[in-house]
Amino acid sequence: MTAPTVDRALAGAQRLRLDRLDATRLLAHHLQCRREWLLAHGDATLTPEITARYLDDCRRRADDVPLAYLIGQREFMGLELQVTPAVLVPRPETELLAQWAIEQIRAWPSGARAPRVVDLGTGSGALALAIASACPRAEVVATDVSRNALAVAQGNARRLQLPVRFAHGHWWHAVRGERFDLAVANPPYVAPGDPHLAALRHEPAEALVADDAGLAALHQVIDGARAHLSGWLLLEHGWDQAEAVRDRLVGAGCADVALRRDLQGHARCTGGRIE
Ligand code: SAM
Ligand code: GLN
Repeated sequence: MTAPTVDRALAGAQRLRLDRLDATRLLAHHLQCRREWLLAHGDATLTPEITARYLDDCRRRADDVPLAYLIGQREFMGLELQVTPAVLVPRPETELLAQWAIEQIRAWPSGARAPRVVDLGTGSGALALAIASACPRAEVVATDVSRNALAVAQGNARRLQLPVRFAHGHWWHAVRGERFDLAVANPPYVAPGDPHLAALRHEPAEALVADDAGLAALHQVIDGARAHLSGWLLLEHGWDQAEAVRDRLVGAGCADVALRRDLQGHARCTGGRIE
């Protein structure tokens, strides 16, 4: 039998219809090398064990398992986050929400007390950690109803040495009795039965799906805000939910309700200010 080489391993992935970028990332992960090295060493031989583990991951990737779960990490706002199947893989479009929050926190008056910020439904910790990293003055709390997700987020905070406090519970109940100056949330907003869920089946359903056509969690976060927040509530939502979210924010007494679109031009985040 011909010895497996880097080039043959990558060709094997192509037969499984894997994206070449994913295949090279997986192989680099198993060889603990950089992708650049692979591209320059196509005839390097691989051990049968590494080849078998890599091909196994290629098959899982071909079955829609996110690359981030297979390599165990994902970059968000320049931070290397560890991810497991207990958390949603942070999406690039969520950086829009992180940037909006960071912009608002940076506008906080310099002589004033530290701004208090909460990330509701933190998952891997992506938003809370990006904010804590960019705004060292902010006091950041991150919540989730999933204890397994909180454990992943806590691990990320520890590794990145970012001072985020974690609280367990259902939306605002996790921070009972506390008040904040800014809140961010990327809650589950996909409608039950949405056809996109088939491709997302390896991620936790409780991170993705919400009742009432995907609006139930967004409504709970908005409706509970006044009791805990004096300042901006910034939310990610589905491309077709902007109007419903805006109406709910207005109904909850928010001022300055504004929309932000992602690079594709899709309505992606809506925010409003509670006085
Ligand atoms: N913030 C992360 C991000 O942007 O990548 C994760 C967002 S994920 C779409 C939604 C998160 O909300 C999940 O981590 C899920 O466990 C959490 N969640 C779902 N229901 C919740 C609830 N009732 N209270 C608090 N968190 C909840
Ligand atoms: N943006 C995710 C997706 O559809 C959904 C995340 C969410 O429900 N908040 O891939």
